[in-house]
Amino acid sequence: MSAFALECGRCGTRYPAEARATVCPECAKPLLVRYDLDRVPGAGLPESWSSRPATMWRFREILPLREHESPVSLGEGGTPLLELDGARAGVPGLRLLVKDEGQNPTGSFKDRGLSAAVTRATLDGVDSFVIPSAGNAGAALAAYAARAGAVARVYIPEDTPAGVVRRCELYGAEIERVDGLITDCGRLAAEHAARTGAFNVSTLKEPYRIEGKKTMMLEIVAQLGGSPPDAIVYPTGGGTGLIGSWKALHELRVLGLISDTTRMYSVQAEGCAPVVRAWEAGEDSAAMWKNASTKAWGLRVPAALGDFLILDALRASGGGGVAVSEEEMDAATLRLGQQGISASIEGGAALAAATRLRETGALRDDETVVLFNTGNALTY
Ligand SMILES: *Cc1c(COP(=O)(O)O)cnc(C)c1O
Repeated sequence: MSAFALECGRCGTRYPAEARATVCPECAKPLLVRYDLDRVPGAGLPESWSSRPATMWRFREILPLREHESPVSLGEGGTPLLELDGARAGVPGLRLLVKDEGQNPTGSFKDRGLSAAVTRATLDGVDSFVIPSAGNAGAALAAYAARAGAVARVYIPEDTPAGVVRRCELYGAEIERVDGLITDCGRLAAEHAARTGAFNVSTLKEPYRIEGKKTMMLEIVAQLGGSPPDAIVYPTGGGTGLIGSWKALHELRVLGLISDTTRMYSVQAEGCAPVVRAWEAGEDSAAMWKNASTKAWGLRVPAALGDFLILDALRASGGGGVAVSEEEMDAATLRLGQQGISASIEGGAALAAATRLRETGALRDDETVVLFNTGNALTY
């Protein structure tokens, strides 16, 4: 509905929102979508949003969709915010909520980002996509490309479990198994894009996946009656959801809809914690993590293109970073299960981190804290 342009997250250069947006041509850093928020009437928005069907596209005034355009949708978003018994979960003395992203169409929050990216690209004439993926992003791209009548090709590490590959195949995607790591898949996907003209929707190589992910925070604020939570705990790989949540709060503030803010905590695995290490060292970008190892695939990202945006959000919000062990993640995943939540290991990582943050006092008495269960247990 509203006009939008693109702006480099690092150097601030502005570009028109033309088709096939990638990264900043000047500095190769991620682009962010900027709306003409001055021209959006903020006051009436919460009411319009709540009157529409409960998919993430209800927030269309601040999504990359023009007035008469329709999204490529499978009903993504509108997931519940479930209250936990904090004492039983291991985080006593505050209000503990889980944004249950496992209830999305393909079982993870990747659906939000890929619904937005596939929507924008297909509206601009793209009919062939490629992505490197450890599983969930590949399945989400495959589903949304199928929905749009487009072709999807997924580069996947050879050691990816068969069930994950099968999920991509079910949606008719072309699968390429790679004898290597996700970084090798990334290189092959880029080569395929250069060779064939397929559009590469790898994390932060295009600006619209962040827009889809930011709707998680727009929903949370609505579900909390219009106020943001005191803190969120986010299992961080490439960081799109964290960057998106921070961006959502900024936009709500500019629209005059909120005044408070939220502390952002990034959770990573002890075996792959580049963002946490950089945060602890006070750096503003994260060095590549060597020999990354964790069974939480979503967190096995040794170098994130948006590292500086994640670190800025952690610092500016007064939050921080926490690394948790494989054992802590496993135990916490079961504690979510004990309250009826089908949690991926990344969701368990968020609860494990919240437990630590409560013990150190970073999460205070009576605060409202939201954990992200980024996928359901069946995605494994
Ligand atoms: C991709 C993924 C993550 C990491 O998300 P980012 O936004 O890239 O940090 C976490 N959990 C699951 C289940 C994922 O699929």
